[in-house]
Amino acid sequence: MRYQVRQQRLLELLRRHQASGLLVTSLVNIRYLCGFTGSSGVLACRLDHGRRQLALFTDGRYRLQAREEVTGARIVIEKRSALEMAAEWVTGSGLTPIAIEAQHLSVAERDLVLKHRRHPNSRLKSTVGLIEQLRLVKDDQEMAAIRSAVNLGASLFDTALNTIRPGVAEVRVAAEMEHAARESGAEGMSFETIVAAGPRSALPHGHASTKPIPGRGFVVLDFGVILAGYCSDMTRTVHVGRPTTEEREMYEAVREAQGAGVDAVRAGVTAGEVDFAARSVLRRNRLDRFFTHSTGHGVGLEIHEPPRLARREAEVLQPGMVVTIEPGVYVPGKGGVRIEDMVVVRENGCEVLTPGTKELIEL
Ligand code: ZN
Ligand code: ZN
Repeated sequence: MRYQVRQQRLLELLRRHQASGLLVTSLVNIRYLCGFTGSSGVLACRLDHGRRQLALFTDGRYRLQAREEVTGARIVIEKRSALEMAAEWVTGSGLTPIAIEAQHLSVAERDLVLKHRRHPNSRLKSTVGLIEQLRLVKDDQEMAAIRSAVNLGASLFDTALNTIRPGVAEVRVAAEMEHAARESGAEGMSFETIVAAGPRSALPHGHASTKPIPGRGFVVLDFGVILAGYCSDMTRTVHVGRPTTEEREMYEAVREAQGAGVDAVRAGVTAGEVDFAARSVLRRNRLDRFFTHSTGHGVGLEIHEPPRLARREAEVLQPGMVVTIEPGVYVPGKGGVRIEDMVVVRENGCEVLTPGTKELIEL
């Protein structure tokens, strides 16, 4: 990955925010900036007379790993808390303010940083989404990783189709999918697999339960894997037994809404416009009141990251952003349908990354 480029962009961002340093406490952001994948550490960045200095503070468990993984930052390992060491180092030059990631630093940790600053005049400056902003647009190496994750993830749909039948527990379907994922080399699932059958399909986030799949009704499957750190996210809805006319219409409305969302994606439109396109189809079908969540979200190192494709969201889509398009309809007591693909934003449209049919499959 191009860590040096990212670190350079970070430097420009800090200058724009008139900050003299930064404490990165989000592990995902640390990974993005220097490659470290350990579960504990703090990355500190200090601007000294315009030169950037980066240091990763972690503990003895990660001595070898940090040496292998980290690019562009010196590695500091001591027995003390990484945050204390980072606080002392980043305030060492006396330059101020030091940016902190407000979303990724607890109040207690902030107090610890203040307690360990080298100069009493060192100030902290809260920032929100600083590095997340750098992560919005994916480079070609990230795209390659995302494509691999998407394809591996999509292969699990076949496993699900081979497992789903009346009487089989939802968790059994999820377990088969997760087993196949690990066998195919996935590092893990990108979130808890959703298998929601029959009336449970009306729960937008129905985690697989021990309930058996009923003799007829929708089954919503929402699943994804992590590969080389990058997440995939996909939803398909199948029907056990013959669907009624009403169920078929509901499915087709969601499919049309999903297609309208995909068609609306291109560089220059706002996230809100994409949401509006999908929502409008459901409104025309008098189903919009059952569409209770947003149309999509960014995906990358995290399963949910900016931008948010929601009502009136003003963020403008840029080429290279990767987002999901996932409208759904959930009728309490009856059932639900959701269809989700990942797409990459292009200048004049988008490319759908998720392979596979969206025709209603009857099992
Ligand atoms: Zn999903
Ligand atoms: Zn999603």
